[in-house]
Amino acid sequence: MSTIRFKAVEEATKRLPLGVKSPNMQPSEYYGVNIFDRKQMSKYLSKETMKVLTDAIDEGITLPREIAEHVAAGMKLWAIEMGVTHYTHWFQPLTDGTAEKHDSFIDYANEPGGKIIEKFSGKLLAQQEPDASSFPSGGIRNTFEARGYTAWDPSSPAFIVNDTLCIPTVFISYTGEALDYKTPLLKALSAVDKAAVDVCKLFDPKVKKVYSYLGWEQEFFLVDKALYHARPDLKLTGRTLIGHESAKNQQLEDHYFGAVPMRVAAFMREVEFEAYRYGIPLKTRHNEVAPNQFEIAPIYGETNLANDQNLLVMSIMDKIANKHHFKLLIHEKPFAGVNGSGKHNNWSLGTNTGVGLFTPGKTPNENLQFISFVVNAIMAVYKNNALLKASIMTAGNAHRLGANEAPPIIISVFLGSHISKVLDKIEESSEDDDITVEELQKMKLGVAHIPEVLIDNTDRNRTSPFAFTGNRFEFRAVGSSANCASAMIALNSVMAAQLIDFKKEIDKKMNAGMKKEQAIYDTLRFYIKECKAIRFDGNGYSDEWKKEAEKRGLNCETSVPVIYDSYISPQTVHMFESIGVMNERELKARNEVKWETYTKKIQIEARVLGDISMNHIIPVATQYQTALLDNVYKLNSTFEKEKAKTLNEHNIALIEKIATHILGIKNNVDDMVEARKIANKIENVRKKAIAYHDTVAPYLEIIRYHSDELELIVDNQMWPLPKYRELLFIS
Ligand code: ADP
Ligand code: MG
Repeated sequence: MSTIRFKAVEEATKRLPLGVKSPNMQPSEYYGVNIFDRKQMSKYLSKETMKVLTDAIDEGITLPREIAEHVAAGMKLWAIEMGVTHYTHWFQPLTDGTAEKHDSFIDYANEPGGKIIEKFSGKLLAQQEPDASSFPSGGIRNTFEARGYTAWDPSSPAFIVNDTLCIPTVFISYTGEALDYKTPLLKALSAVDKAAVDVCKLFDPKVKKVYSYLGWEQEFFLVDKALYHARPDLKLTGRTLIGHESAKNQQLEDHYFGAVPMRVAAFMREVEFEAYRYGIPLKTRHNEVAPNQFEIAPIYGETNLANDQNLLVMSIMDKIANKHHFKLLIHEKPFAGVNGSGKHNNWSLGTNTGVGLFTPGKTPNENLQFISFVVNAIMAVYKNNALLKASIMTAGNAHRLGANEAPPIIISVFLGSHISKVLDKIEESSEDDDITVEELQKMKLGVAHIPEVLIDNTDRNRTSPFAFTGNRFEFRAVGSSANCASAMIALNSVMAAQLIDFKKEIDKKMNAGMKKEQAIYDTLRFYIKECKAIRFDGNGYSDEWKKEAEKRGLNCETSVPVIYDSYISPQTVHMFESIGVMNERELKARNEVKWETYTKKIQIEARVLGDISMNHIIPVATQYQTALLDNVYKLNSTFEKEKAKTLNEHNIALIEKIATHILGIKNNVDDMVEARKIANKIENVRKKAIAYHDTVAPYLEIIRYHSDELELIVDNQMWPLPKYRELLFIS
């Protein structure tokens, strides 16, 4: 009998919801106590320091060194009052998650006698050299050649975890190349700000700054900790590599509408309390489609900050899940046969004057601005659909995309009937029409009445990877474990580059004597025609769409390592370089990291599956087969020959079936090992990743098939790993 499995099941079944201590205060009273936000700053910094710092944050200018000195002093005071003893530069390497190296505040005082004091200078706040040679850099930073630096990002508040002050930082090489996600994100945000302000000025000269906003929706699974530890595949790869579907999973759609299980509700409550302490405005929580699947989402915020908050929330959730005897799974596809997890990125742009640029306006002028931004966004996605796909593609997300539940592996834009009609109207208008303000007023661009209808009533096409939802675009293809920055760098960059082109076009036309409205209208008409191929409101899951998309020239590549090529195509390199976000060297280096990561993930999965198959599955299947054989012998010796033969028919069939699947596993594991050996000899990282995709990964499916068939046959008492029905239904 499988003791580990049944012990785990027993442990999980007995668990009760944990009591959660309420802060006994309204969120507004303790919101942000763990972050050095403006409220805390005003208490610990002088008026002058505060002003220079907030101006620097708001306008994105560099902070003078002596100001950093003052900020560090104030921050240290606050932190020590909060019981903090250590500090760390918190950064986002190109691997999953975040990294930190803790240093204590203690130092020798600058006097004889070895007196110890708490020290935290402006220099330590502003810059550090983590010994980070083991972080992937795609060869930019050879271990012997130079170090990487972390540098303070004042636009995201420092925060406290346990006894440590965490300072959000960028991570760059000695020669200035980005080794992280935050650096290019900040550059992309600044590029889109500048480009969008230039376009906004056509409509409102008062606009000085355009913010990019992000509202993420984080999906995840929870499994009981005991069951998790009984599954080596979950532990080592984040997903189940084998496991037959449960007879009941999500067919009845009862989980989505059901009440959150008590144990999970307690977990969620605690996550919320904790998130509020970090100034993370969690707003919604609910069950998702699959059993054990849930979602949380905050009120949206400025993109850089919202992204840091998402990373922080993932680690908060992980910690609290542990406390509640759960394990948090943020892999995109932990279980076959039920929905995977995504992280929808709701994205919009807004001005310092409070205007949402994807929000329909009230006046013809505002509406022309709205339509301009929407059309430019569509155009940007059209021109860069391959890059946007690359920005969200990982080994994990590949299991989710293209399956019958998540956005397909082709990027298209869903607009809904209202906006589609408006664009059709512009497209159909005659090029000879004289477009004036009065004319626009008369036509009202057909969108005058849109706001009320749209926001409550946007057609919800869940099959679209990139959908307009009333006042924002929702990029749904992002994977649940991703750093949103990857998608946000790409999206804000392509938008910046597109807006620059747009502005140039308008300037050119106006310089030639055309009126502003006419110039805008004509350019939009041209764009609407040009980017039509990207618009698709139908069913993204259908096979017809795949054929149609190919005909339209959209990127339909499905191989993860090949999809990454889009990052280093001449078009993409030019786009990123033209707006100063990343150069060719950085893009190439980052792709090396992506290919290497892909290879490693498949390599680990292959090894783990090989081990489980040989050490867990085959021995148990053989044991059961032996029991059956034993039964055959016994029946033979008990009954006369003909009778025994009849009685043994069932046994023999099963014995043969087991033999077939054991052999299926054994042969395919051998072949997979061979394929890996061959792939490992390839030096070129791209070619190696492709070899892993083409020649190693397919075995994962074949071996799984044989194992899952055995799961259906082998005595339940013997089966060594918790089954889906045990993993997936938290009581
Ligand atoms: P749904 O599941 O219907 O898409 P949710 O309420 O779960 O809706 O998530 C919507 C997300 O979009 C939230 O995080 C919300 O803050 C965010 N959001 C709303 N308006 C905007 C906007 N203008 N810009 C960016 N994000 C937004
Ligand atoms: Mg959504």
